[in-house]
Amino acid sequence: MTKKMQGAVLDGIMSIGVHEVDMPVPRPDEALIRVHCIGVCGSDIHYYEHGRIGRYVVDSPLILGHELAGQVVEVGANVRNIEPGDRVAVEPGIPCDRCDYCKAGRYNLCPDVRFMATPPIDGAWAEYVAVRSDFLHRLPDELSYEEGALLEPLSVGFHAMRRAGLGPSDRIYISGLGPVGLLAVTAARMHGVSRIIGGDVLPLRREMARELGADAVLDPADESVADRLAELTGGRGVTAVIESSGNARAVADTIGNVRRGGKVVLIGLPTSREIPLDVTQLVDKELDVLGVFRYANTYPAAIDALLHDDHPIERIVTHRFALDEIATACEVARTQKDLSVKVMIYPHSPDARAHV
Ligand SMILES: [Zn+2]
Ligand SMILES: [Zn+2]
Repeated sequence: MTKKMQGAVLDGIMSIGVHEVDMPVPRPDEALIRVHCIGVCGSDIHYYEHGRIGRYVVDSPLILGHELAGQVVEVGANVRNIEPGDRVAVEPGIPCDRCDYCKAGRYNLCPDVRFMATPPIDGAWAEYVAVRSDFLHRLPDELSYEEGALLEPLSVGFHAMRRAGLGPSDRIYISGLGPVGLLAVTAARMHGVSRIIGGDVLPLRREMARELGADAVLDPADESVADRLAELTGGRGVTAVIESSGNARAVADTIGNVRRGGKVVLIGLPTSREIPLDVTQLVDKELDVLGVFRYANTYPAAIDALLHDDHPIERIVTHRFALDEIATACEVARTQKDLSVKVMIYPHSPDARAHV
């Protein structure tokens, strides 16, 4: 008889509840993970609120959630790299390993990737999840489960730094300080970026960026971003703009806000597909424009970097809920953008209060 567990199931727009679902059984190359904590991501809330993101449509009940860490409880017969009892961060996208992209190491572009909480693939807002073992990354004792879960959004910024080849000779502006933008501050420090400026309209997020090590912050609703960036860089300008807000105006403004010869890195997804860009300026300034989609090969390096990082990234976790509070958790993430940054779910509720 199949064992059962509790899972949070989205069964319609704005309709989510905890139900008894089948407990996954690990295949020979998989491990069963007891989910310790798992974040609520902007994409989860988008599915919750609209039932779709672009071409991905929720047309049957779906378990959301893809930012998690937990403990290995059982391994399949072929698993060698981890064992029961290990604390692990879970990388949530399993690629095919066979296509050109996978072979080239760019497995984030694999057309056959099975990414958690992207319909029809279930995520892990549940007590347990089975994951292919080479996508489990052992957490050193020094790192908490929450840091393990935050490796997922951190990876996006980490990948952005690599894509743009940013390092000590760079001065950057991070536009938008949601979880991804905030953790891009951390990723930028990890890559030795010499000057990091963050911008967001919400005071709490600017304050967190400072705590995570941004050298300066600005409010794009209240001041001229271009003027302020010039002032903060002694007139030299920023060598890269990392756009993580997805705000159409902010995306268009990246071209004007970066210095000549600079890089524009686009992470945030705007709600409209088409945004006017000043192409004459883009050409005249000889800009590199780079898209960033998820990440590849970031977890091991980001774990090492976190071990040497002295700014606690858990600071961005503003709310912690048990699994049966999932509806409240979604509403907090959806409606309280000024007070909430990262909302964390603890599927085994006693862990929720005695967290980290
Ligand atoms: Zn996410
Ligand atoms: Zn592939």
